[in-house]
Amino acid sequence: MNIELLRQLPKVDQVVSAIEADLVTELGYQVVVDKVREAIAVVRKRIIAGETIPAPEEVVLDLTYRLLQAARRPSLRRVINATGVILHTNLGRAQLSDAAKDQLWQVASSYSTLEYDLGAGRRGSRYSHVAELLCRITGAEAALVVNNNAAAVLLALSTLARGKEAIVSRGQLVEIGGAFRIPEVMEQSGAVLREVGTTNKTRISDYEQAVNENTAVILKVHTSNYRIVGFTEEVTTEELVELGRRYQIPVLEDLGSGVLIDTRQFGLSHEPTVLEVVAAGVDVITFSGDKLLGGPQAGIIVGKAEYIDEMKENPLTRALRIDKLTLAALEATLRLYLDEQVALERIPTLQMLRLTRQELLGRAEKLCRLIKPDLPEHAAVEIIETYTQVGGGSLPLERIPSAGVALTSSLYSANRIEHLLRTADVPVITRIEDERVICDLRTVKPAELELLAETLCGALGGTRR
Ligand SMILES: *Cc1c(COP(=O)(O)O)cnc(C)c1O
Repeated sequence: MNIELLRQLPKVDQVVSAIEADLVTELGYQVVVDKVREAIAVVRKRIIAGETIPAPEEVVLDLTYRLLQAARRPSLRRVINATGVILHTNLGRAQLSDAAKDQLWQVASSYSTLEYDLGAGRRGSRYSHVAELLCRITGAEAALVVNNNAAAVLLALSTLARGKEAIVSRGQLVEIGGAFRIPEVMEQSGAVLREVGTTNKTRISDYEQAVNENTAVILKVHTSNYRIVGFTEEVTTEELVELGRRYQIPVLEDLGSGVLIDTRQFGLSHEPTVLEVVAAGVDVITFSGDKLLGGPQAGIIVGKAEYIDEMKENPLTRALRIDKLTLAALEATLRLYLDEQVALERIPTLQMLRLTRQELLGRAEKLCRLIKPDLPEHAAVEIIETYTQVGGGSLPLERIPSAGVALTSSLYSANRIEHLLRTADVPVITRIEDERVICDLRTVKPAELELLAETLCGALGGTRR
C-alpha cells in the first residue's frame, strides 16, 4: 500500500467545487456529494489494493464525472435490440406504430374523452373506446381490456369460477416468463384447479369425467413458450366447446399472444387467430396487447356479452384497470387492423416479421459500409446469415431465417465486446455465438443503422462520431 498516494486523495469539498455548476444544479448538491464520495472510495480501494495511480486527484475527478454522467441518464431508456428477437420481453416487447405514438402523445398532453360521453354530455366508459373495434376485428360479441393478460386471466377466473372448479389439462399448467403460473393465478382467483389428463396426453373423456355440479369453467391455456412433442394428444378447441355446450359450462381460453392475422404469410406455422377461436364458439378469450398484436401492454378479453358484463361488475376490474395512455395506443393500433394490409405495413412487430433474409442482408451490407472506414484495425466485421425467434413466448419452435453482422477482435474477447456494446451511451444488446458477437438486424430499424455503426465503432475504440 502506498501511503503517499493515499495522502494525495482529494477532499470531498475540493472535488465538488471542481464540478461544473450546471451539473450540480441539474442533479442536486447532495447527489454530487454522494458521487464524489463514491469516486474517492473507489480510488482509495484501488490504491490499498496496491495499484499505482499517478495522479489520484485527476482520477477521482474523472471518475466522478463518469458517475455523474451515468446519474443523468434515465434508468428506463432506449436501447438498440440487435438480438433479432422481435418480442423480447426484457427489452419491452412490441414497439408502437407511429399512429399509436401520436395518439398516445395527444392524450398524454391534453384532457381527453377518457370517461366522458361527448354525445350525451355526461360520464362515459373508458372501455367504450376499444370495445367496438375489438368486436369488429375479432367477431366477438363483447370486449373488455385490463392491464395485461395475466390480469385478464385472473379477472376471468375470479368472475366465472371463484369458489368453484376450473378444469384444466395437466399439459397446460404452464409457467410464462415473469412468474405467471397458471396454478398460482387460479389460486389467487379463488378458483379450484381440477387437473385432468397427463402431461403428454389429455382426452375429451378426461374432461368429461371431471365435470360435476361444482364445475364453473373449462380452461384452455395456450402452451406459448414450449411444446410437448412425440407421443401426445390434445383436445381441440372445438371438442371443448361442444362439451361445454352439452353441460352448459363456459369455455375460457388463454390465447397468450393473440394474433389477429394469419402467421403463415410470414412463413411461420399456423397460430390460431382470435377470430378463429371466437368463431369456434369459445365463450371467453384472453390475450396480450404487446405480443404479436404489436400494441401496448394490455390484457384483452373478448367473448360472450353475458360473461364480459359480469366481469365489468367485478371489483377486481377497477384494480386491474387500464390507463389512458395504454388505451390511446391500443385504440390507434387496433384501428390499423381494420385493413390488414395497413396493419402489415404500419405495425413494427409485423413489419419485422415480414422482412426477408434478402432484405436483411441488404441492411447488413449497408451497416458494413458505414462501419468499415472507422473500424479499428484490431476488429473485423463480417456479414452473416443466422436464425432468430419471435420471442415473447410466441411460436417457440420457430426458427426464422435472419441476417446481420458478426464482430470479432484480436484485442477483445467476444464477452468484452458484448459488454462494451451493452454499456455504450445508447446500449446495443447482442448475443455471442462461437466467440463472435452477433448483431441480428431483424430488430434494428433502417433509421437506427447510422447510430448502430457509430456505437459499434465507438465501443471498439474507433473514431466514428
Ligand atoms: C404471455 C402470456 C401470458 C401473460 O401475458 P402478459 O400480457 O405478459 O401478462 C399469459 N398466458 C399466456 C399463455 C401467455 O403466453
